[in-house]
Amino acid sequence: MLKVTKKEFWFVVGSQHLYGEEALRSVKKDAEEMVETLNKSKNLPYPLVLKELAITADTITEIMKEANYRDEVAGIITWMHTFSPAKMWIRGTKLLQKPLLHLATQFNESIPWKTIDMDFMNLNQSAHGDREYGFINARLGKQNKIVVGHWKREHVVNEIADWMDVAVANGESFNIKIARFGDNMRNVGVTEGDKVEAQIQFGWVVDYFGIGDLVSVIDAVTDEEIDALFDEYMRLYDFEYGSYDQKVWEAHVKVQARQEIGMRRFLEQGNYNGFTTNFEDLYGMQQLPGLSVQRLMAEGYGFAGEGDWKTAAIDRLMKVMAHNENTGFMEDYTYELAAGKEAILQSHMMEVDPTLAVNKPKIIVSPLSMGNREDPARLVFDGKAGNGVVVSMADFGTHYKLLVNEVSLFEPKEPAPNLPVARVLWEVKPGFHEGVHSWIQAGGGHHTVVSLNITTDQILTWARLVGLETTVIK
Ligand code: MN
Repeated sequence: MLKVTKKEFWFVVGSQHLYGEEALRSVKKDAEEMVETLNKSKNLPYPLVLKELAITADTITEIMKEANYRDEVAGIITWMHTFSPAKMWIRGTKLLQKPLLHLATQFNESIPWKTIDMDFMNLNQSAHGDREYGFINARLGKQNKIVVGHWKREHVVNEIADWMDVAVANGESFNIKIARFGDNMRNVGVTEGDKVEAQIQFGWVVDYFGIGDLVSVIDAVTDEEIDALFDEYMRLYDFEYGSYDQKVWEAHVKVQARQEIGMRRFLEQGNYNGFTTNFEDLYGMQQLPGLSVQRLMAEGYGFAGEGDWKTAAIDRLMKVMAHNENTGFMEDYTYELAAGKEAILQSHMMEVDPTLAVNKPKIIVSPLSMGNREDPARLVFDGKAGNGVVVSMADFGTHYKLLVNEVSLFEPKEPAPNLPVARVLWEVKPGFHEGVHSWIQAGGGHHTVVSLNITTDQILTWARLVGLETTVIK
């Protein structure tokens, strides 16, 4: 489902008429080679499209206006091959509403001391041009990204690639639509928030539905559809019957299959790419959605429990940024406090994202201590190891705040035969006591999104684009 429509980035090269036609032909030739090489390298997640040389204010303004208008253009990358007087850039830059990256690079990597003359200097004066152009972006308060280094260097290409993912996620943020099946969990504070402000600031549409609207779609799912999906479960997952009779077990799993098909249908009909559930609001449902939610998470839907639409939207946003790899909704559950082993066990009642699984998930049916419904089926697995970033958004009454903590995930070493949920373990940076203290003091929530494929810098780049206050713990 993780559908992001076709995107591209426009590459705009700054120069001016002063150096003559021959110099401009060289600028164009170098720009073509740069774009062709970067596109062919396949190291960028989206293609670059070279636009005409930015040598007049009118040309620059036209390019930026066109970029705003075209949905497929996710952002602009600029490069100053020569000096390019910055007053020419004011009108276009002010109009530009898409993310902007200033690539501070130069065509040649080294200075050719044996042959360098004034013609060469005039043609290759990126150091000069970068400062003139950078000044106007700074003065305009443009929240642009600056990437510095030779354009063939791996770290430069990686920085551009990371920024492209942020730019696409930022654009897609304005296509995030969350369906809330039921309201927020009663009495819980951190899952609340100002939906109007969230739509103004981040573009999120958050719609409530009474649970009966969903139940009627779930009830209309046919037995044939359920059997076909059950066969798919059999191919993908291990089945663990536990103390259940096999027939009873299968019946419980098929309730989740019915929910999965019904929820997907409901979300597709309304063009929703994220949703919430609430175990307090299950009228007409046989089970709290568990396995069904996990399957939709794996497809790229944003999700959070207990009506937490903010975290569901952040989940969707980060899934777009991470190409739906190793990214999902999470909840801080239980501390490991033994000296030298301090960590936090992450999980949820059932809804842990299978994109984080290190092993083949197994389906388990188990009672749920909350919710007053029949024993629900869920996917159980262990989480992957690696360095990651965990993010939580909270409404502080006057503004939204984003908490970011760098974490180090590790695989559990000991089995937990009585734990009927997926588990993810991590150590927090800079250290357990300082990290946990900072998180709590800053008001970070218990619902988060974790990703092994996103960097703190990417999160902060997005936060700057939407004017979001951040607290970073690392
Ligand atoms: Mn929760």
